[in-house]
Amino acid sequence: MNFNDLKINDDIKSAVGKMGFEKLTPIQKKAIPEALAGKDIIGQAQTGSGKTFAFAIPILNKIFTPDKSPQAIILCPTRELCIQVAEEFKKLSWDMDKVKILAVYGGQAIGRQIRVLNKGVHVVVGTPGRVIDHIERGTLDLIGVETVVLDEADEMLDMGFRDDIELILRHTPKQRQTLLFSATMRDEIKKITKLYQNNPKFIKI
Ligand code: AMP
Repeated sequence: MNFNDLKINDDIKSAVGKMGFEKLTPIQKKAIPEALAGKDIIGQAQTGSGKTFAFAIPILNKIFTPDKSPQAIILCPTRELCIQVAEEFKKLSWDMDKVKILAVYGGQAIGRQIRVLNKGVHVVVGTPGRVIDHIERGTLDLIGVETVVLDEADEMLDMGFRDDIELILRHTPKQRQTLLFSATMRDEIKKITKLYQNNPKFIKI
């Protein structure tokens, strides 16, 4: 399956073409059509599988740019992954009109993040601790969020982010789409999916 076969907007297709990618990876082939259809997903896939595009393409496809509030939030275990995921979003949205992506993570001056958030951001990519910091300061409102991604969920649980993740999820609308990616599928992950996902489609690569 090629990116051109997907029912997504042409600006995303042209961005993927510029990056030199043509064929979907196995996780993309299985996850993108389900995510485009609005389904919740549990994706068991490793880094390097192309999982970032598997959630970034469906998210970008439904961004409504005139509404300048966060419509998607991606939670990642580390600052490095946040930066990497935000970069992939930026490249994919290169040809789209004015899509704003922001990475928020600890260790970076919070004032700069607040200024960008105040100007309006469509997609937030963050580590759980810093996202909570913004929620508590009132600088990040998740009421308009349609899609939540838990990326490398097992890593986040290993790092002790379980309570933070649950708190963040409770700040998002109940009718959201929730996409979870994890390299392993242990009981703790299954518990999260039972509590916070709606009839998720399980995809294993
Ligand atoms: P990820 O698993 O999301 O970290 O992606 C690993 C790498 O694969 C990234 O550098 C992507 O830019 C690249 N990539 C994503 N999708 C494709 C694709 N369909 N074909 C080739 N490379 C890809």
